[in-house]
Amino acid sequence: MTAVHLGMPGLPTAPRGVGHLRGTESFPDAARHELRNGQLRANLGHATATIRGKRAGVVAEVPDWEQLRAAGKAIKAATMARLDEHLVELERQVTARGGTVHWARDANEANAIVTALVQATGTTEVVKVKSMATQEIGLNEALEAVGLDVFETDLAELIVQLGEDKPSHILVPAIHKNRAEIKEIFARTIPGVDPELTDDPRQLAMAARTHLRERFLRARVAVSGANFAVAETGTLSVVESEGNGRMCLTLPDTLITVMGIEKVVPTWTDLEVFLQLLPRSSTGERMNPYTSTWAGVTPGDGPQEFHLVLLDNGRTAVLADEVGREALHCIRCSACLNVCPVYERTGGHAYGSVYPGPIGAILSPQLTGVEDNASLPYASSLCGACYEVCPVAIDIPSILVHLRAEHVEAQEHPTAEALAFRGLAKAMSHPRLWHLAQRGARLGRLIARGKPTLPNVFPPPISGWTRSRDLPTPPTRTFVQQWTEEHGQ
Ligand code: SF4
Repeated sequence: MTAVHLGMPGLPTAPRGVGHLRGTESFPDAARHELRNGQLRANLGHATATIRGKRAGVVAEVPDWEQLRAAGKAIKAATMARLDEHLVELERQVTARGGTVHWARDANEANAIVTALVQATGTTEVVKVKSMATQEIGLNEALEAVGLDVFETDLAELIVQLGEDKPSHILVPAIHKNRAEIKEIFARTIPGVDPELTDDPRQLAMAARTHLRERFLRARVAVSGANFAVAETGTLSVVESEGNGRMCLTLPDTLITVMGIEKVVPTWTDLEVFLQLLPRSSTGERMNPYTSTWAGVTPGDGPQEFHLVLLDNGRTAVLADEVGREALHCIRCSACLNVCPVYERTGGHAYGSVYPGPIGAILSPQLTGVEDNASLPYASSLCGACYEVCPVAIDIPSILVHLRAEHVEAQEHPTAEALAFRGLAKAMSHPRLWHLAQRGARLGRLIARGKPTLPNVFPPPISGWTRSRDLPTPPTRTFVQQWTEEHGQ
């Protein structure tokens, strides 16, 4: 067992060069490309509006929803405060039931552990249950690099894999594709697919089913993530809608689960709260169709070898930040994505990381260190919609502001914005300077030539601000002048 030092400052973040937590360009640059894609915006607008409506309907049915949210938040906070103890208890219980626990400090260690475990079985194929943790560490690429074939079995993940695309949503990775685009991918990539295949959802699902069934039946190794792990009994849990997860968790001889260390909950009573919060917040269902739970190995029933890989990859560094650590409470429901006006327009690829949307904007920079994802905390209007819908009441806007401050403080040289605000602070605290500045601002009236807003004639960096915002023409009278005229001194 590798020692993991929880909650200590200065801990390592997720390493560079492996996994999918960093994009190749900043959020504004990537978003600019994505915004030119009208089809993407139409697909996203339609899909997020549908899920939003379903969620709002089923949440409104629960009279004690706010109390449930508060319970979820409290359980997560209490669990994080003693995470080390819960993880050690989880290891004890999994081991007692015939499983093996591996501790991975980062993506490289986790990939090496899983690769060695798969190779030891002698198989050349792996079936996978949808898992954010394995996407985060780039496990598919690591397995393929040693010649193993990896098959995603979640329908949306399959679409992404066959289309050689990237996921763009936590829950619905192919949300950016419409039915016609999915039909084209299937027709092009699935061997022996019906040449008469149409974009009818049932036909598409049946094509994927036929393609996957053969792989389920011959697979000897499956890799999964986990939604939750109950420390008191060493029980892992996966919740899903399609049943592909159940097939992967029960049919192969060997099951390997890669789980972020924050997914542990102390008891079954705690799990009960999250199993109520998650389906209503994610798919807008009262209960998800498949909830699989397993503990260790049962002779003659299910996989006969079970390995649990506990992944850190920057999580203890997040835990060390008193404000930012709340991001570890996330149960990956994706409700915050579906209500976010920024996500709805740019889509998930613009975030660069496998974690898009508001949760991605606070989680990715913390896992990698803010300097490697510096633009993400700014990818928000701070409207607060994400906080309103989060089932565990994560205060995402406050963490965004906290990370922005961290980024600004880490700058060697002050930014143009910081200099502008310093200048403004100085002027506002010296009346003579302030009056001079007000007189200077009147020049703006000359540039405006009677129009209510100023034309965008400013040099950088001001032009970066005015390109997408109207700068009002300065008024003829200042506030102080108006006040004096109307109320006297
Ligand atoms: S931050 Fe909250 S709303 Fe967003 S995915 Fe996580 S749990 Fe869901």
